[in-house]
Amino acid sequence: MKAKNILLKYNLSITTGRLNILEIFLNNEMALSEKDIQDKLIGVCDRATIYRTLKKFKDTGIVHPIATEGMITKYVLKKEPEEHLHFKCTDCGKIMCLPEVQMKNYELPSGFTKKESNFLVIGTCNNCNN
Ligand SMILES: [Zn+2]
Ligand SMILES: [Zn+2]
Repeated sequence: MKAKNILLKYNLSITTGRLNILEIFLNNEMALSEKDIQDKLIGVCDRATIYRTLKKFKDTGIVHPIATEGMITKYVLKKEPEEHLHFKCTDCGKIMCLPEVQMKNYELPSGFTKKESNFLVIGTCNNCNN
């Protein structure tokens, strides 16, 4: 899907900043932190715009956050199914979604409510294993 169509689908007005940031997500399989995006848009988008846009994308569900150890949140375009496995490679440091992995439905014990989930597997990715 094109960046413009994604904004339309989520009823967001089309701005250059949003298009620029969305393009980066579309061209990257890997999860990106706010800093990663800043680095890619030096001289194109200011930090405040990037911050606001990421928040908007998160609130509307265009991207989903992946919490990593070290408290840095990375973002990636939303995937189906909503709950899926994430993988972090300790060799190259990349974090990716693995929506193709089947996950069993689970139920929390009574008294627990879910706000978000974040399944992270740590290991070596297929690239680094080659
Ligand atoms: Zn790797
Ligand atoms: Zn994911």
